[in-house]
Amino acid sequence: MKVLSVEFLRPMLLFCSMLCIAGITAHQIIYSRAWHKPLDVVIFPINGDNSLETHNYINNLRDDSFAEIDNWLATEAKRHNLPLNRPTRTRLGKRVKSVPPVLPVDKGIVRTVLWGLQLRSWVFRNTPDDESNLRRVRVFVVYHLGEDEKPLAHSVGLQQGLIGVVHAFAKPKQNAQNNIVIAHEILHTVGASDKYNFYGGPEYPVGFANPLREPLFPQRYAEIMAGRIPTSHYQSYMARSLKSVRINYTTAQEIAWIK
Ligand SMILES: [Zn+2]
Repeated sequence: MKVLSVEFLRPMLLFCSMLCIAGITAHQIIYSRAWHKPLDVVIFPINGDNSLETHNYINNLRDDSFAEIDNWLATEAKRHNLPLNRPTRTRLGKRVKSVPPVLPVDKGIVRTVLWGLQLRSWVFRNTPDDESNLRRVRVFVVYHLGEDEKPLAHSVGLQQGLIGVVHAFAKPKQNAQNNIVIAHEILHTVGASDKYNFYGGPEYPVGFANPLREPLFPQRYAEIMAGRIPTSHYQSYMARSLKSVRINYTTAQEIAWIK
């Protein structure tokens, strides 16, 4: 009997593992957008600056700290006639000790793809529980004390793997805005796209909560995937909490709330 050579086995194993990952990813994408029952979302907190203040801030987090996100998504789902009362069930997971790889500022396609692979490998190694990931979104929130007016690293949400990485301020007065960023990244994981224009403002019409409003300005709400409330075609301001944020028709279509 002929023995299979290592040269043959190695590419076969690689091919099989890639096929397996593709199968899991396809399952995650289909399930997360089916909306037959609430999608589990787990927030894994990370101390991003190793400070005692951030450590204490994380100690005070509870499931309740993220209830606003579930309640807001429930209200928006109702507005879009989704036949599911609560689209998400968000809870606090265990702390993670390691920090995820940072998205390169100079984003070429190759660097971004490599970073995506690195991130998925990091998530595989650092998810602190052994629950199934086929049916849940994992959001790793890196908390920092930060400096006022100085933006934190970019947050991201990936549909492949249902993974979010959020950089947030470890300050109670920032909780409401942190929840906007977390909700934005959760929606990326289920297929929503960004709706900013070249200058970082909401892109008309897709980045407006109500692009048909008359008069068009000022808008009353921000669209979640743009995050800012437009007061003219050139001016907008940050929404302070999810109370001033909506999911518009385009985003609702992207996340399969409207078929
Ligand atoms: Zn985004």
